[in-house]
Amino acid sequence: MLDFNLLAQSGAARAGVFETAHGRVETPVFMPVGTQATVKALSPEELKAAGVQIILGNTYHLYLRPGCETIGRFMGLHRFMHWDRPILTDSGGFQVFSLSKLRQLTEAGYAFQSHIDGSRHLLSPEKSIQVQLCLDSDIIMCLDQCLEHPATREQAIAALEITTRWAGRCKTFWRTQTDRRNSLFGIVQGGMFADLRRRSAEEIATIGFPGYAVGGLSVGEPKALMMEMAAHTLPLLPADRPRYVMGVGTPEDLVALVGMGADMFDCVMPTRNARNGQMFTARGTLNIRNARFRDDPEPVDASCGCYTCRHYSLAYLRHLYMAREILAYRLNTIHNIHYYINLVAGMRRAILSGSFDRFQKAFYSVRQSPDR
Ligand SMILES: [Zn+2]
Repeated sequence: MLDFNLLAQSGAARAGVFETAHGRVETPVFMPVGTQATVKALSPEELKAAGVQIILGNTYHLYLRPGCETIGRFMGLHRFMHWDRPILTDSGGFQVFSLSKLRQLTEAGYAFQSHIDGSRHLLSPEKSIQVQLCLDSDIIMCLDQCLEHPATREQAIAALEITTRWAGRCKTFWRTQTDRRNSLFGIVQGGMFADLRRRSAEEIATIGFPGYAVGGLSVGEPKALMMEMAAHTLPLLPADRPRYVMGVGTPEDLVALVGMGADMFDCVMPTRNARNGQMFTARGTLNIRNARFRDDPEPVDASCGCYTCRHYSLAYLRHLYMAREILAYRLNTIHNIHYYINLVAGMRRAILSGSFDRFQKAFYSVRQSPDR
């Protein structure tokens, strides 16, 4: 079982470390999203050069294509994609919910049709664990029921209850497996209702997991409500286990959530936004398409030490992007991943030296309005 070691706290912010079968992870940590067994546009060597410790794989996508039979022949995702550091996989539930056609929720699981070829499948709690074990990821997630926003209290209660029952089934199934090298994390739901978040946290913690995730955030609710729910839910999770906020967020979100005691994050923003020309910098975000960069010899971020910023100007990156050159997506992604990893590493150093407060002030003091 994953052994989380809490090393320091600065206010509510935490720095820790845990070991997996594929190496250690220092927290707080940001996990780039590798949906289809690749973090889009980057090689594993480039991820390592950016300091990426752990990536996230999407069970729904990998189950449908290329499928467990193929990845199983490689003894899992690590060898298949040539990545030897830790991997976390989600349960597949969120993608069924957001991508598939004709999904139907029953006590058994999600019956759905593939968004690729229309084939029919049942994603049950047991099936989700089985697929994640076949992928041999280091951290696997319980199947939960996601809620749209807004949802009624009745809908939130129903989702909470099925999430608890499914968490029990996931753990029972996982325990029947021999030779377990993976850790199974529980997920807290409860919609945007504080008392339901508390109830879900208590029920999931009672089942008992080596780590806990806050699910159901960033599903269309206003930012202030998301932060309110996170601030309410995070302290309800066991302090001696890692706390993972799923699918979040912007650099500002990460700084705020670490300040509330969150340890793990994943988000498509650095990679997806890079492919849309949006770059994250210490001073805020900028859009590489902006005409003001046409002749700009400066790098994206003078304080960044990434390959892109060391060698290329804004003018060149803008040119590549406007010409739709493949290299544009690669260079933009290298920078954004580097920025996110470096931001979280900076927070960790600040927590370890007891100065997270100062870090937060410095972070906000240099930020300007978007698109400088
Ligand atoms: Zn850079």
